[in-house]
Amino acid sequence: MNGHYVSTSRSNPLFYIFAQLFNQTGSIDSCVQQAHLEQSKDAAWLEFWQREGHELLEQKWHKTHPDYKKEIEEATNEQRENWETLWQQHASQMSAHFWHIFTCAFENYANDLSNGLRNIDEVLDNVDEYFTDLNIHQDPYSANSSESDEEEDESYLTANDDPDICDEQQQLKLLGLPTSFGTKVTQKKRRIKPKFKSDSDSESDSNQLEMSKDGDKELHAVQSRNIKKKKRKRESKIPESLRNNNTMLKYWFKRFSLFSLFDRGIRLDDESWFSVTPEKIAKQIAQRLASDIVVDAFCGCGGNAIQFAKTCRRVIAIDIDANKLEMAKHNAAIYGVADKIEFIHADFLHFASSTRLRADVVFLSPPWGGPNYQKSVFNIEEHLLPVGASQLMQYAKRLSDNIGIYLPRSSNIKQVVALSNVGQQCEVEHSYLDTRLVAITAYFGNVIKTEPQHSKQEE
Ligand code: ADP
Repeated sequence: MNGHYVSTSRSNPLFYIFAQLFNQTGSIDSCVQQAHLEQSKDAAWLEFWQREGHELLEQKWHKTHPDYKKEIEEATNEQRENWETLWQQHASQMSAHFWHIFTCAFENYANDLSNGLRNIDEVLDNVDEYFTDLNIHQDPYSANSSESDEEEDESYLTANDDPDICDEQQQLKLLGLPTSFGTKVTQKKRRIKPKFKSDSDSESDSNQLEMSKDGDKELHAVQSRNIKKKKRKRESKIPESLRNNNTMLKYWFKRFSLFSLFDRGIRLDDESWFSVTPEKIAKQIAQRLASDIVVDAFCGCGGNAIQFAKTCRRVIAIDIDANKLEMAKHNAAIYGVADKIEFIHADFLHFASSTRLRADVVFLSPPWGGPNYQKSVFNIEEHLLPVGASQLMQYAKRLSDNIGIYLPRSSNIKQVVALSNVGQQCEVEHSYLDTRLVAITAYFGNVIKTEPQHSKQEE
């Protein structure tokens, strides 16, 4: 069966995952059709908002009214009613606001899924027949998507970027639209003071007063949990190699998305700036692949291995580049997990052919060939290194049938589905930071979720 699920995280940047199960044994499930996508969208929103909406509202509320807690303690009944009215307005504005962001992300997903399913000439015949009843709404402009994608990429900031340049509120307003990259934005803090009503107005609101009292309890509870984020120390200097290169500079602004502990001394080489998995996505994958022994076949600077160390008993992290392994070790120590990871300097293909190790899960994050992966449709059989995806899977299966593979967002999904064994399923997760698709992760074997589920990100 096919299903969607959505998983989100409250903190910056907003993180959405939409997942789809593909089944090679029959025609594609109608779930991918537009009507079903709409249904999934509504269900996903409701589930998300019921689970996280209240806390989102509270966070924003305290940000807008930093003096609320103090003022409400001394407020008269009439003033409490005014606060309550203000809260109601805030709740309705904010839910509309988040609904809009969610909708953008979901619509991007519908388009991205559609593009992934059509965008390649060399469609594999044996897979194509399963997609004949596909009927996803196509944006007439999406034919030019690779070009516009590139432009957007130049201006893409995430909400975790330098808070001096772009705070969360600013990011949310962007809603995935192009921004002027790197421009200093002056931040206006809206501090709405409640307007206090006349005596006659307040009489009619006695019911609301009751609600307000309950609401106050919750609001205070949130404050006492210290929801305010500590200001990060930003001691790190922009590395020389990034300073005069606009393409690379954008990765610098995303550094806290890559590693939340970046300023504790995370080390990355030039290549790793664009290949490391953003932390939230790495965390999500690690939760999905939680197991006893996991092999991270292309460890790089350790973004995934660090997160696996938190969900798995033992991590075997392999890389062909000794310098990268050194950096990974150093980075893992910053996260306090170095002792759970065994770093192996090897060519994964050679390792998989010669080892007697059986792992519970193999995670593949093979080289995408640099930032050029963004520009065109990505053929996973031709463009991945060191070998095409099918061959890579054969090597991985020597270690385990349970495999996760992290791929460029423009990867052809028909090719991805074709990686599963005949009669078996493949689950494809699209990961969005704010409203932009970052990458897809495909799962094979018993790590697939067979029912739509809702996982919640740890903060
Ligand atoms: P991308 O092209 O996605 O930016 P990278 O070039 O950074 O990816 O490659 C990911 C990691 O895989 C790098 O750390 C690289 O050293 C490592 N790598 C490349 N080939 C192999 C291999 N055959 N075996 C193990 N690790 C490899």
